[in-house]
Amino acid sequence: MEHQPIEKWIIEGTPLTPEQQAQLEEHLRICKHCRELQRSLLEVDELLMQAEMLSPAEGFTQRFQATLAERKALKNRRQLRKFFLSLLGAAMVTFGAMGLYIAMTSSPVEVVTRLLENSTRVLINLDQLERFVTTVFNTLPPYLSVGIWVVAASGLVLFTLLWIGALWRTSFQGVFNK
Ligand SMILES: [Zn+2]
Repeated sequence: MEHQPIEKWIIEGTPLTPEQQAQLEEHLRICKHCRELQRSLLEVDELLMQAEMLSPAEGFTQRFQATLAERKALKNRRQLRKFFLSLLGAAMVTFGAMGLYIAMTSSPVEVVTRLLENSTRVLINLDQLERFVTTVFNTLPPYLSVGIWVVAASGLVLFTLLWIGALWRTSFQGVFNK
C-alpha cells in the first residue's frame, strides 16, 4: 500500500487543508500501519509533555488531543522552557561575576556561604516561577497563548533584572556594612 504522503503528514504534524484532512482520515480507516504510526506518535507526544510538566494541570490529558492548536501550544511550552533556561544562564553568569568580586573583597568561607545562599534562592524562585507560569499557560486557550507569552516574557525580563539588581545590592551591602 502507498503510505505517502499520509505518513509524512502524520510524522510532521503540518497543517492540512480540508481535502488533505479528508484524505488522511480515509487512509487511516483502511491502513493499519498508518493508524499505528499515528497512535504511537500521539503517545510519544504525551510522554514528552508529561516529562516536561512537573504537575499536569487538571483535565490536561483529556484536553490533549493532537489538534494543530495543541501542537502549537506544545511548541510554545518548549520555547517557554528555553526562555527560562536562558534566564537561568544569565543569572549564573551574573552570580559568577558577583562571586569573583566578593572573592576579592572578603574571606573564602564568607564567599562560599554567600554564593550558596544566593544560588539556592535563585534556583528555588525560578522553579516556582516556571511552575506558576506553566500552569497559567496550560489553562489558557491556545489562541491566547502567543499574546500572553509575549507579555509574560517582557514582564519576566523586567522582573528578573530588578530581582538580580536587588540581590546584587543586598550582597554588596552585606560586604560593605561589616
Ligand atoms: Zn498507510
